[in-house]
Amino acid sequence: MEHDPNCLFCKIVQGAIPSRKVYEDDQVFAFHDINPWAPVHFLLVPKRHIVSFAHVDAQHAPLLGHLMMLAPKLALQEGCRPYPEGGFRIVSNTGAEGGQEVHHLHVHVMGGPRPWLRG
Ligand code: AMP
Ligand code: ZN
Repeated sequence: MEHDPNCLFCKIVQGAIPSRKVYEDDQVFAFHDINPWAPVHFLLVPKRHIVSFAHVDAQHAPLLGHLMMLAPKLALQEGCRPYPEGGFRIVSNTGAEGGQEVHHLHVHVMGGPRPWLRG
């Protein structure tokens, strides 16, 4: 598995920095955001270090398909109500103008009753 020794999310994936785990398999890791905007707010990341969505190509398609397929399942598991009354929001900040702070590809999955702190 390719990890960047200076990357916060690589350290979380490897357990070197603690997190509140939501889900893990051989390809992806999900954990609660430390600074939640919504009643449900977790991050879903590939275990291998990919910098951002601006860095993906065809070789990443199966991994990203797997990751995105998991988002609605985990959202329900974490307490989001079902579609259409409930639902969730998926966001991926990419690059400086996209508001990306951690340079390891991740999607935010947010949901739960409104109002939310942000968003
Ligand atoms: P962004 O790169 O803009 O999508 O933001 C990174 C997200 O990671 C923010 O929502 C942070 O609250 C979250 N975050 C930063 N450090 C941690 C951590 N140690 N554990 C969980 N979430 C974190
Ligand atoms: Zn990383």
